[in-house]
Amino acid sequence: MNFQKFDEIFNRKNYPAFNKNYLPMDDYPCICLSGEKYRNCCKKDVEEALQHENGEKECEELKKIYCKNTKKLISTKIVNKAINKKNISYCLAEKVFGNCNACNNVKSHTLAKGSILSNLADNDNVLIAFNDHQMIDKKLFDDNIDAYYMDVSIDDASLAVSYCKDHDRDLFLEIEADGKNQYSHTKIQNLEYALKSISFQVYYNLENIKYLAELIKTSKNVLGSYKGIESKLLMNYSVLVDELFKLYPLSQMILEDIKEYRQRGKIKKLKTEYFKLPCKKINISCSEVIEEQSINYFINIVNAPEPYIIISYYENEKYSTWINAKKKEFEDEKYKSFYMYDFILSFIITNAQNIYMNKCKFNQLSKEEKRFLYLIHREGTYYIPDNELKDMNNFFFDR
Ligand SMILES: [Zn+2]
Ligand SMILES: [Zn+2]
Repeated sequence: MNFQKFDEIFNRKNYPAFNKNYLPMDDYPCICLSGEKYRNCCKKDVEEALQHENGEKECEELKKIYCKNTKKLISTKIVNKAINKKNISYCLAEKVFGNCNACNNVKSHTLAKGSILSNLADNDNVLIAFNDHQMIDKKLFDDNIDAYYMDVSIDDASLAVSYCKDHDRDLFLEIEADGKNQYSHTKIQNLEYALKSISFQVYYNLENIKYLAELIKTSKNVLGSYKGIESKLLMNYSVLVDELFKLYPLSQMILEDIKEYRQRGKIKKLKTEYFKLPCKKINISCSEVIEEQSINYFINIVNAPEPYIIISYYENEKYSTWINAKKKEFEDEKYKSFYMYDFILSFIITNAQNIYMNKCKFNQLSKEEKRFLYLIHREGTYYIPDNELKDMNNFFFDR
């Protein structure tokens, strides 16, 4: 599998298929992505590994190479190689716009640098991100919560190699500008923001798939069970491939819409709801696709330069749109910032990976608050009793 060739990357036939027990199917490509059929490649070793119970020592070894937490499982090594060596590289606009120069795929921000990252950072050049690569370790978590966050310079934040130079420049003209362009709910702004979020999600998905394939090549033991934790690697793998081939057509739809808009000034399909936040500034930003009730929502939290949450989607007649209900609740709500705080915590922080925070504000949080925020990110609000929910309104929103 060549992760530098558009036609190979976005062809479902090059990926493994799984049965309902998440076992790879014989006549489909192997899970190590060698290009061989599974039955002729890793099948025998995989079956052995699945029977094998890892001992304590093996578990320790595995922890170092396989940081597993459902969706949040990417390794820094894969990210660095994907981006800096362009190991995963393509132009997402190749089919819809064409005329790409493949040698010219560039590193670009999946969060607009001007309108999002710079405005978020104030005068600092450094932002804070969740460190999703850190395994939860009780002692480390109690003693050094800062290990679960990382500093990221604006230049390195939210990168992907998913456009050629020309398309990276042309497709985000409205929202990149210099961050001073007011968000005014225009169709083209909404399309560009939606494209940003799906650009991240497609790339992140590919990084994860590549990571799993390489892990399996490195050690089949990753498939055996951990002490107390059953390995869900194959299930994750199957979900990731399914997601990729739901996201890919959506990304092409957004690009088609942008093309249509440029040629005829119309867009047919993309719907958008936006929430003007009741504050001067929001101290986190995010660009991500999150699925809710069978619809993929393209979500952006921005200071552009005023704070907004922008949520776009393609309607699906089969499913009623959750977002309309949210918007109505928000409009009727008297305490809007509490409503939004809850929404950001339980929906965004829990589901998203492409999140950045203002460093200065983050440094003002107590250790307890940092632990709380990380736990929410990792495990959601579900397990936290109401009386332990912290009020961090002042962290998220500047009045
Ligand atoms: Zn194989
Ligand atoms: Zn291109």
